[in-house]
Amino acid sequence: MKINNLIEIQKLVIKSYLSDIKIAVDATLGNGNDTNMIIETFGKDVKVYSFDIQEKAIISAKENIKNEYHKNIDFINDSHEYMDKYVKGSPDLVMFNLGYLPKSDHVIKTNPYTTLHAMEKAIEILKPNGLISIMFYIGHDNAREYKTLLEYVRILDARNFKAIHVNPINQDENAPKLVIIQKGDNLN
Ligand code: SAM
Repeated sequence: MKINNLIEIQKLVIKSYLSDIKIAVDATLGNGNDTNMIIETFGKDVKVYSFDIQEKAIISAKENIKNEYHKNIDFINDSHEYMDKYVKGSPDLVMFNLGYLPKSDHVIKTNPYTTLHAMEKAIEILKPNGLISIMFYIGHDNAREYKTLLEYVRILDARNFKAIHVNPINQDENAPKLVIIQKGDNLN
C-alpha cells in the first residue's frame, strides 16, 4: 500500500478510532463506495444516512451496494446541508468525499457554501468521540472549497475538537487532501 493513498489512510484512521458504531452519515453518496465501506467495516446493523443531490448517483449506489445492505441505509436525494432534518440520533461518523460524480457531468459538484453549511451541521450533531472525515479533490475548483473548509476547521475550538490534515507534500499540488476531525467529550 502506498503511503499517499489517502483512501487507505482514511480507512485505517476510521477503523482504529471507531468501533461498534451505531449511526453514520455519508454526506456525498456518489457511487456508494463510502457507504459500502462503512457497512463492510462495522456491519449491517449500522444505520447509514446517505445523501446525494443527483438521483443518478442514488440509482448507481443502489446498484453497487449489495441488496442485503439496503435495509439500514436511508438513500436521501437531498443536499447534505439539511442532514439535521433527516438524521435521527447522533452519528459516530460523517464522511464527505467532495467534487463531482466520477464519469458524470462535472458541472454538478459540491460547492464551498453548501459544504460549509453541511460541515456546521455535522459538527453540531456528531457524537462525542465521533469522527468527521473529508476527502478533498481540489482540481475542479482551483481549491476554493478546500481553502474555505480548511479555514473553518483551523478555528474550531481546540478544547473540543482535534483535527488532522494529511497533505502529500512531494506530489502534484492538485493531489487529494484529507482532513479528519474528532469531537471531544470536553477533553483538553
Ligand atoms: N463517495 C462517492 C463514491 O463513493 O462514489 C463519491 C462522491 S463524488 C466525489 C461527490 C458527490 O457529491 C457527487 O455524486 C455529487 O452529486 C454529490 N453532491 C454534490 N453536492 C452535494 C450536496 N450539496 N449534497 C449531497 N451531495 C452532493
